[in-house]
Amino acid sequence: MVLSDNIKSGFASFAAETQTAMDRYTSFRVGGPADLLALPQTVEQVIALVKTAQKVELPVTIIGGGTNLLISDKGIRGLVIILTRLKQNIESITPPINADSDSPARIYLTALAGQPLGSLCRYTADAGLAGLAWAAGIPGTIGGAVMMNAGAFGNDMSHVVRQLEVLDLVTLETVVLPANRLEFSYRKLSLENSVVLKVRLGLTRADANTVRDEFYRNLKIKQSTQPVSQASAGCFFKNPPGVKSAGFLIEQAGMKRARYNGAMVSDRHANFIVNHGNACARDILNLADQVKKRVYKKFGINLTEEVKTIGD
Ligand SMILES: Cc1cc2nc3c(=O)[nH]c(=O)nc-3n(C[C@H](O)[C@H](O)[C@H](O)COP(=O)(O)OP(=O)(O)OC[C@H]3O[C@@H](n4cnc5c(N)ncnc54)[C@H](O)[C@@H]3O)c2cc1C
Repeated sequence: MVLSDNIKSGFASFAAETQTAMDRYTSFRVGGPADLLALPQTVEQVIALVKTAQKVELPVTIIGGGTNLLISDKGIRGLVIILTRLKQNIESITPPINADSDSPARIYLTALAGQPLGSLCRYTADAGLAGLAWAAGIPGTIGGAVMMNAGAFGNDMSHVVRQLEVLDLVTLETVVLPANRLEFSYRKLSLENSVVLKVRLGLTRADANTVRDEFYRNLKIKQSTQPVSQASAGCFFKNPPGVKSAGFLIEQAGMKRARYNGAMVSDRHANFIVNHGNACARDILNLADQVKKRVYKKFGINLTEEVKTIGD
């Protein structure tokens, strides 16, 4: 989309960039240009950006760490808002007795959406707070983790999220949503047309050594079973219900190490598609399609994508 000078000047105060290649903002290291790109540092800037985009009828795309995304080679039309700079100190509050009926040892942590999940997780390990050690090694932001209901080792974000502060993209109002109004399911939070701005987690005081041990044990498992040093977006497909895992099906279908140009099914974890350095989004999609067809042929199971494909 060719943006008029008038539109561009409306975003000048946000230091928005034009035609920026998105590959450096995704863990897959692929993605064509965004028409306009902004990296706000405050909630107020996020709101102002969204309002400005609405005034000139530009579509808005929200991105966190870009670790669960495949951005198309043609890129993204309109305004892309990346939230990785939207962070501040993690706030910790001890709730008044009976405010949280689960346990008197409860503690709340509040963070802005761009806070890296890894730093929050490490914070809980150092502070002796139980409830988030399962997330060790999951990259991205806390906002993205909430939207994806990120999970591991039988746990996920739905177990710890207590409250969200979100910007409603239709009314442009900021709304506080308590946990009982959030609809989480496997790798999904049903929350349309909203930007997560702030997240409150509920954790429990525990023995610091126990939490730290669990954190490092989980981290080690991830590092030894996943191709963490290669460009990917984590598990490409969701685990279908009733089977061991999508990775098992892919391996049994003979697709481990399958390649298409620069894209390859990881030899370490068959549910990871990795970019060997020169893959484009089309290569990854082509390989994913081959994987789906082979798994369907062998098992009659339709794999569905966990990675979100966005852009033209
Ligand atoms: C090596 C590796 C290992 C991984 N391991 C795991 C794992 O064990 N478990 C797991 O669940 N995932 C895993 N992932 C996938 C990914 O890290 C998680 O899904 C992560 O939580 C995504 O966060 P993000 O900030 O990168 O989100 P993004 O990829 O930027 O965005 C994901 C989705 O959320 C939306 N979004 C992001 N932030 C906001 C916001 N503030 N408001 C509204 N919408 C928003 C985006 O529009 C997009 O639709 C892994 C990925 C990699 C690369």
